[in-house]
Amino acid sequence: MAELAKYAARPEQSHGRAHSEATPNGRNEFQRDRDRIIHSSAFRRLEYKTQVFVNHEGDLFRTRLTHSLEVAQIGRGIARNLNLHEDLVEAIALAHDLGHTPFGHAGQDALNACMKDHGGFEHNLQSLRVVDRLEQKYAEFDGLNLTFETREGILKHCSKENARHLGEVGERFLKGNSPSLEAQVANLADEIAYNNHDVDDGLRSGLITLEQLEKVALFSQHLQQVRNKYPQLAGRRLIHETIRRMINALVTDLCQQSAALIAAAAPQSIESVRTSPPLIAFSDDMQRQQHELKQFLRRNLYQHYRVKRMSSKASRIIRELFAVLIDDVGLMPDDFQFKAKDDKARAVSDYIAGMTDRYAIVEYRRLFTVEDQPI
Ligand code: MG
Repeated sequence: MAELAKYAARPEQSHGRAHSEATPNGRNEFQRDRDRIIHSSAFRRLEYKTQVFVNHEGDLFRTRLTHSLEVAQIGRGIARNLNLHEDLVEAIALAHDLGHTPFGHAGQDALNACMKDHGGFEHNLQSLRVVDRLEQKYAEFDGLNLTFETREGILKHCSKENARHLGEVGERFLKGNSPSLEAQVANLADEIAYNNHDVDDGLRSGLITLEQLEKVALFSQHLQQVRNKYPQLAGRRLIHETIRRMINALVTDLCQQSAALIAAAAPQSIESVRTSPPLIAFSDDMQRQQHELKQFLRRNLYQHYRVKRMSSKASRIIRELFAVLIDDVGLMPDDFQFKAKDDKARAVSDYIAGMTDRYAIVEYRRLFTVEDQPI
């Protein structure tokens, strides 16, 4: 591996953990963060949480878990190319969606509406809450006690109001500073991953078609290349050959544009990265193409009536679970009842946010149906 750039994050210069711990043996601090994330129960639950399609709709669609693995893979490649710290990018990528509710964005919007008078709900902030407080498995602290750098990367966006209560990790939102380049890489690797896998899953589901995608420049130019080279190719292979080229083009563009921005800004350390504008970015042309693809996906996939039907059901499940549980917290398992003594609404929100899609569906049935259901 090439030497780390001087503006990369360095474990030995970390701003540290909330509870100080001895330096790990045989691995660096960011590796330890990654290892703790992988061993967390919130990470395992990602397997049964929706990305676009609800978990039971098909075994081949992305889940939050496979999405997070793809983000980590793409992010590590970019980090290596730019001589940034791969382990930190990986840790951030694997943790970035830990706070997602069941049923994807529909679930988050519904829970946010339920929490309107109680401080709201935001999945990004919840990811930080999971690693800072909700995981309870270590003897000496709540949460995973991750380094500042991993926590900084997990908190992608944050309102000023919330940032004021978060200590050091909230400061950049008040000062208008940037996070580490590793955090910026994980953020854009997330975009590359979901735009591409949503095209793949959308085609697999039949909700969008190749004919429609031929009108989207970013897709059609690569589809054309594949057709020129392999005129007989069809079906899944044609789609995959196109998508792999699209991912490659996005990653290559991001690396080139970012290297140029970094060279121009010439940051001398991670601290000067934090006071510079964002330096990890696509070229303007690629940004435009990616925007066109996103709009296509929004119109044709995320707002497809079959996706909306599931979202509508999901919102109802979340709203009704919230209503019945806040009305009687005694219906929740003991540890959440205990937490409800401090803050009733937040305990209900944490309980619901932690559910997988299928757990939420089962819990809904247990609470609302009178047929023979095991309690
Ligand atoms: Mg994501």
